[in-house]
Amino acid sequence: MARLAVLGHPVSHSRSPAMQSAALRALGLDDWTYEAIDVTPEDFESLVHSLPGEGFAGVNVTVPHKEAALALSDDASDAASAIGAANTLTFTNGRIEAENTDAPGLIDALGESGNLEGRPALVLGAGGAGRAVVWALAGAGMEVSLWNRTASRAEDLAAEMNVSAIGDQVGLIDPGEFDVIVNASAAGLGGDDGLADLPLDPERFRPGQTVVDMVYGDGPGRLLEAASLGGATTIDGLEILVRQGARSLRIWTGMKPDLDVMERAARS
Ligand code: NAP
Repeated sequence: MARLAVLGHPVSHSRSPAMQSAALRALGLDDWTYEAIDVTPEDFESLVHSLPGEGFAGVNVTVPHKEAALALSDDASDAASAIGAANTLTFTNGRIEAENTDAPGLIDALGESGNLEGRPALVLGAGGAGRAVVWALAGAGMEVSLWNRTASRAEDLAAEMNVSAIGDQVGLIDPGEFDVIVNASAAGLGGDDGLADLPLDPERFRPGQTVVDMVYGDGPGRLLEAASLGGATTIDGLEILVRQGARSLRIWTGMKPDLDVMERAARS
């Protein structure tokens, strides 16, 4: 028997419990459980330290705890250290190991997009998700341009990760110039019109490019609708959630979960 959980604040909206529970059942791990735990930033560290004693093998960590998760860990992967945030903690022999599966999860989801090396990518957003996305795409050899609503944050992150920043500008960015576009900002969250908050010309999406929206809600949202109309391949935030969650589950159980089972549960 082992317990798993997602820690966040708030966390009731998370699809991870349904998704991970379905994956555990499909793997035949009937004595494993996965729950959601709402914990405030003040209580996060003490709660995490109490979990191994309560039978937890590991946890996913979501907003706003990813940086705190890295900070309290005993060992961190290169990805988690470079991104500055962890979304997966594993409790092993009295130690806390930190990993970031958001970045490789994105690369997994882009698997059908062919070789990424040397191709142009646009990342929108320089918060926690933006850091993971820029690190992942630059690590895959893409030529990354970074835009953020607050331009100075894009400039700081671009300098740190050795990519290009798109500063304050007149007019819209032509999305047709990029083979991969990732919205890693919160634009579109809560059903808002994400496209209205992003400086993209909605008429310039094209076939041969892949557009990813990390934000997920009840439908594809206006960004993915416009990209799809232009002929682009689209990937929504639930697919990214499935990919990062599958990697976390593999770390804890050593077993490869069924992505279709996870996706069906995440979308239901
Ligand atoms: P965060 O650290 O709080 O950063 C928020 C980012 O969004 C900042 O760059 C912020 O820009 C920008 N932003 C906020 N509201 C905006 C708006 N109306 N228009 C344009 N930009 C806006 O959050 P995060 O952790 O990076 O998460 C960002 C989004 O990714 C969230 O919606 C989250 O749910 C999603 N996400 C999804 C997955 C997944 O598995 N699908 C994984 C991670 C994150 P400023 O700097 O100007 O404030």
